[in-house]
Amino acid sequence: MTRIVQKFGGSSVATAEHIKRVASLIAQRSRAGEQVVVVVSAMGDTTDDLLALAAQITPRGRAREMDMLLSTGEIVSSALLSMALQEQGIPAISLTGQQAGIRTSGEHARARIDAVRADRLEGELGQGNVVIVAGFQGISEDQDVTTLGRGGSDTTAVALAAALSADACEIYTDVAGIYTADPRVCPQARPLRDIGYEEMLELATTGARVMHARAVELGAIYNVPILVRSSFDPAAPGTIIRKETIMEQGNKVRAIAHENRVGKVTLRGVPDHPGIAAMVFEPLSEAGVSVDTIVQNASVERLTDLTFTVEPDDLPRAIEVIEAMRQEIGAAEIVTADNLGTVSVVGTGMASAPGYAARMFRALTDEGVNVEMISTGDIRITCVIAADRVADAVRALHAAFELDRA
Ligand code: ADP
Ligand code: ASP
Ligand code: MG
Repeated sequence: MTRIVQKFGGSSVATAEHIKRVASLIAQRSRAGEQVVVVVSAMGDTTDDLLALAAQITPRGRAREMDMLLSTGEIVSSALLSMALQEQGIPAISLTGQQAGIRTSGEHARARIDAVRADRLEGELGQGNVVIVAGFQGISEDQDVTTLGRGGSDTTAVALAAALSADACEIYTDVAGIYTADPRVCPQARPLRDIGYEEMLELATTGARVMHARAVELGAIYNVPILVRSSFDPAAPGTIIRKETIMEQGNKVRAIAHENRVGKVTLRGVPDHPGIAAMVFEPLSEAGVSVDTIVQNASVERLTDLTFTVEPDDLPRAIEVIEAMRQEIGAAEIVTADNLGTVSVVGTGMASAPGYAARMFRALTDEGVNVEMISTGDIRITCVIAADRVADAVRALHAAFELDRA
């Protein structure tokens, strides 16, 4: 018997009507004799609404309570979807992350799935139920509800597919797959038929929110092929994320990713001696702030500037940590900015061929976009630029690397 995991994102279950339509999609598969596990996100903008609600009570809700609050969004949609299936005559049951056996680390708002205890899931499947699991959540060793970070329902789905040895993992979203750039920003973007884990991971970590990065990582580790498709256009083929099979890509840049907002911290006039970088980045990492691009200028008279970027939500915490260390570090001044974004070009073919950076900078220069910082990886180049030029930059790079052509 075929066993599948399907995940439906927030826009796919935004209203009661959407939920009924999604139930029909699931019902077809169940009637065809497949065992179906479904992972759902919170309805529409529910997670943002809950965050806004908490902000009306306190600007600094404890992480534990925030997770209790946010996890309810997914529970609502799972119960409603289960009812919609039952209404269509399909036996179904909804489960919270905890009931589904999803064990996580204890870091609230960014918990990692450690294990899936699948007995309950197996039992429900065995009894012929479609099982609807609330995405994005689990339970820590201390029995506290945790969440997996924004977009984390994708990760729930891939983890369940791995744990249940599912034959397929389908991620239903509001676009028809993985495109050469965000189709909402770049109308010329084309859907890809397939993409390797490595490239997809790089895209996800540089801002392509269509897939949660951790989901792609899990897919690669457990070799789960992930089919990304539209719940609004289920006939469209979608994109399969899997182990790269094509040895040589004709076009060596596969796609462009962007981030509309990143935070930047600059430490001016830092004494240039060994150990400074560790002194700055160790406490940041202990505080759970992940640092992206780091640039250190050549020192003038033994003083240097150290600049790094962080997620915008982490900026206040980063500032707090750095301010507390300022004396010790001996920085003359701390300057922060949050009006920046990034554009990245990604492709495995870039690793072995020179000239990509030059082409990227040329395209940005011709578009009149100033590059503030640059960072590179094996298969990626990222430029930090003004937030209000990000969309123009994405379109310019898409054209410069001829991604509009198949
Ligand atoms: P869901 O609620 O289904 O999880 P998300 O909003 O998290 O959906 O992700 C889907 C969105 O990701 C799309 O609407 C699109 O704007 C955005 N996106 C960014 N980069 C890409 C890309 N390369 N291909 C497809 N979509 C992308
Ligand atoms: N509802 C959560 C979010 O908005 C998780 C998800 O949709 O995957 O981030
Ligand atoms: Mg998502």
